[in-house]
Amino acid sequence: MSKRKSDATVSNENTKKSKTSGHWSQGLLSSVDDPNYFVKSDDMVNVIKDKYPKAKYHYLVIAKENISSLKSVTIKHAALLKHMEDVGLEIVNDKKHKGNIEFKIGYHAEPSMSRLHLHVISDDMVSDFLKTKKHWNSFTSEFFLRSQGR
Ligand code: AMP
Repeated sequence: MSKRKSDATVSNENTKKSKTSGHWSQGLLSSVDDPNYFVKSDDMVNVIKDKYPKAKYHYLVIAKENISSLKSVTIKHAALLKHMEDVGLEIVNDKKHKGNIEFKIGYHAEPSMSRLHLHVISDDMVSDFLKTKKHWNSFTSEFFLRSQGR
């Protein structure tokens, strides 16, 4: 299967190589350092707002450990995955999301961005950045690997 294009590529919002952050696939780590996107962190994860959100609320819980993707995860990372889900649930239950907002929490089976990250996304799918069938399918089909419980 061919690698998916990054959202930056699709949106034409970055050049192939960003001036500040190296290859686009490393862009999540740059956004951790950007106060416009950074949400919170602890000893295991950083949480950021997705730069190209595919719904009204879209966050990424990013592992601090240098794990490139779910494919590199082993049994020794079980506690980390559980923690990532717990942090995702904390975001869902944040007071500012009160109301009838439903969330999905899960991983993309074929991620485009490096460093293991968990999507926490409201299920409205309302966003100007939702531009392609792939975007839609990546959150609404088996391509989206739900974390336990959501
Ligand atoms: P995926 O790798 O398919 O799991 O998804 C990567 C997610 O990262 C997408 O939802 C993008 O919108 C988002 N994204 C891409 N580049 C950045 C960036 N530089 N900062 C924050 N989020 C990003």
